[in-house]
Amino acid sequence: MKETLMIYDENGYFNEFRARVLSCRPAERGGYEVILSQTAFFPEQGGQVGDQGFLDGVRVRDTQIEDGLVIHYCEKPLAEGSVVHGAYDRDRRFDLMQNHTGEHILSGIICHSHSCNNVGFRLSEENCTVDYDCFLDEEDLRKAELQANQAIWADKQVIVDYPNDRELARLDYRCKKELTGRIRIVTIPGIDVCACCAPHVSRTGEVGMLKIISCEKHKSGVRLYIASGQRAYRLMREIMEITDSLVHALSLPKEKLPQRIADMNAEIYRLTGQLSAVKISLMKQQLQAAEGPLALFFVEDGLEKDVREVINEHLSHHEESLCAGFTGNDASGYRCVMASRNTDMKQLAEQLRQRLAFQGGGSRQMIQGSVRNSRQEIETVLNEMISQNGL
Ligand SMILES: [Zn+2]
Repeated sequence: MKETLMIYDENGYFNEFRARVLSCRPAERGGYEVILSQTAFFPEQGGQVGDQGFLDGVRVRDTQIEDGLVIHYCEKPLAEGSVVHGAYDRDRRFDLMQNHTGEHILSGIICHSHSCNNVGFRLSEENCTVDYDCFLDEEDLRKAELQANQAIWADKQVIVDYPNDRELARLDYRCKKELTGRIRIVTIPGIDVCACCAPHVSRTGEVGMLKIISCEKHKSGVRLYIASGQRAYRLMREIMEITDSLVHALSLPKEKLPQRIADMNAEIYRLTGQLSAVKISLMKQQLQAAEGPLALFFVEDGLEKDVREVINEHLSHHEESLCAGFTGNDASGYRCVMASRNTDMKQLAEQLRQRLAFQGGGSRQMIQGSVRNSRQEIETVLNEMISQNGL
């Protein structure tokens, strides 16, 4: 079959078109694979997802390319030989064009100023990531982001052409892999020259703005998450909504939020420590009052590490006892930790499962879990078990 005529190559904005259905067959992934005589749908390639849209009212979920043939993944079959009307999802495509062009601008700037290479690119509806084989610090990123936005505001033309071999040989352009055949060059004068197959906006001003969201280590360089155009705008709006709600909740101007939140965290840390000390002393008081081999304490809530610490300390002075701590209440049940130096706690856990609604386990020395019984039931059963079995 002859290669599909790709309308998007010459003009990224050209949308509605008519084309003949050359083939339609069931697709392995479900739905139908439709090949047309020509298409404005951009198929997944070069790191960018394929277009979605409609062919004669039939939904196109995805577009792929194989051996020069553009495959439209349709929900319903289309009659072979018929002429259909096609249109991709314009808003989705424009968002991808803004983000793809934004990436060219940023990569042109970064690769030029850091003498590095763009070694990866992925653009979907959710994310736009770019990988470079060099490390970039916060200052580098701030600078590159500002320069990218200045290039956007300068509203430079984005030029697409196919230089001949002689021109190509003289041209210094970015390229992720060895290319053959007709090479499509996308030029943003003074900013970037790059081999690329995707549709771009025709002037940088249409990108609107570009924001670097985050930077992480990746292989022997970095991966940047970036957002351009309407994505950058949505991100900005989301962040402002979050900031506004914090300004409201804390009754502070936004520039004072970071310090206040740091202060609150320090305060929470200090108070948690104090509260923990109070709870530990409550647990210890109950143990001091305990008589006989069974030492129990109950508190409304407490940290499991504190409960364990109190139990271990008690056992270091009262080797003969079975010590158990419960946090919770009758209505919602208890979390518990139990330990002993001379009783097999695993066996005790087995008995507890039979006589109480106990779930949990542990080692021969210590068990932990939950009990859905009242405090009275727990105390009665444990006392009975101790008097029957001894320790
Ligand atoms: Zn590109």
